Amino acid sequence: MDSTLTTQLIDDKPHDECGVFGIYAPGGDGSRLTFFALHALQHRGQESAGIATSDGAVAHIYKAMGLVSQVFTEENLATLPGQLAIGHNRYSTTGSSRLRNAQPLLIETALGPLGVAHNGNLINAPELRRDLLQHGVGLSTSSDSEVIVQLLAGGRGDWNSRLRMLMAQAEGAYALTILTRDAVYGLRDPWGFRPLCIGQLGEDGYVLASESCALATIGACLIREVQPGEIVRIDRHGLHSEQGAMPRQFSLCTFEHIYFARPDSMFQGEVIHQIRQRLGRVLAQESPADADLVVAVPDSGTPAAIGYAQASGLPFSEGFIKNRYIGRTFIQPNDNLRQNSVSLKFNPLPGNLGGKRVVMVDDSIVRGNTAGPLVQLLRDGGATEVHVRVSSPPIRHPCFMGVDMATYDELIAHNYDVSEICRKIGADSLAYLSIEGMMRAVGAIEADGTPHGYCNACFTGYYPISLLEQTDKLALEKVFGS
Ligand code: SF4
Repeated sequence: MDSTLTTQLIDDKPHDECGVFGIYAPGGDGSRLTFFALHALQHRGQESAGIATSDGAVAHIYKAMGLVSQVFTEENLATLPGQLAIGHNRYSTTGSSRLRNAQPLLIETALGPLGVAHNGNLINAPELRRDLLQHGVGLSTSSDSEVIVQLLAGGRGDWNSRLRMLMAQAEGAYALTILTRDAVYGLRDPWGFRPLCIGQLGEDGYVLASESCALATIGACLIREVQPGEIVRIDRHGLHSEQGAMPRQFSLCTFEHIYFARPDSMFQGEVIHQIRQRLGRVLAQESPADADLVVAVPDSGTPAAIGYAQASGLPFSEGFIKNRYIGRTFIQPNDNLRQNSVSLKFNPLPGNLGGKRVVMVDDSIVRGNTAGPLVQLLRDGGATEVHVRVSSPPIRHPCFMGVDMATYDELIAHNYDVSEICRKIGADSLAYLSIEGMMRAVGAIEADGTPHGYCNACFTGYYPISLLEQTDKLALEKVFGS
């Protein structure tokens, strides 16, 4: 069993494909600041970490498998001089070439060094790969990020024209930070699937990051989010922006609000923790439960559970103690432990649960492999009833925009209705938040009642990107899904 499978057994969550960062730190130490920013973005990817810098003449890079704190040392940070830097935390599925896929990617081009850090997924990467190969460009990894690098390296004109050309060719989700000899660029795809924000550092410094929590960590202030289709350049001339591609229907991934983003990050003027509490409050209004106590599946279910308790008038208490250090263990459990792998991560608190009818709030259910064991743990702890409430709608469709969700075959809500799932997980009742309720909670409802500004494709099956592309993908998914 590989580490990804172990993680899935104890963590039934979607996984993002990375955190990106970029900085122009005049007179400062770009790599050190990037190191601390990557620490703050660690939740977006734990497989590998990397930093590339430019000292104005030469580019430098260091990357390796592991957590930020495992990858970087005083010694290797000292090999990364320069005021310009980009950084990357990667989440990826397993593969023989994992280190080769670690980012940033750095190559030498006719315009000097080019480094790329990518969060997202290009849905037309296969066609772009084919074109590159037919034009004699060799590729050394399976990653769509290398396609981006080669399209930029082989483009015409200055970096800005090459970036515009890239945006005209690339279809899909991308938030990019790009390092050149003299500048750092930030790009966001025309749909705005993946987040990217801009911060100010001191008088003349600027920062780009997947989430604002990285800005706060290094003492930068949030200025604003990069807009869909926008190209931002930061360098000794300051902050420069241009519209690189026409913005399309704004489609920020709703899972940023539900699960991915760190609770202290801000999106569109609101702190994520507040939004998650509101998800819980709406959930309580839609699906009350006759119970004594609300508990969370920690940590990601906690804000919604607090919101549920506030709206229902029920007390909130801890039902589980979570082992925060189990993470992505490379020591595989034996068969006995594997069968009850959730207990590797959670233990019930009998003192709080004994004789109580409990509402267990979680933010999402993907495969459904942990909800049942968690319900059982609460019963083992003395709960007399367990009512499960989920602060997002049932996930019925995979994601093609860079989130490692699951295939159709694996998604429990694609294969079973809510009452069947309730039976399977052994709960006394089960309810999910409605799509309408979720959109109301994130503040994305137009005056006419229609939701706007978010991708909800994994709930609805409506993919914002070209139907033809998706049809091909869905057909592939059906063939290779099992
Ligand atoms: S399909 Fe789901 S996970 Fe993927 S971008 Fe859309 S909302 Fe996010």
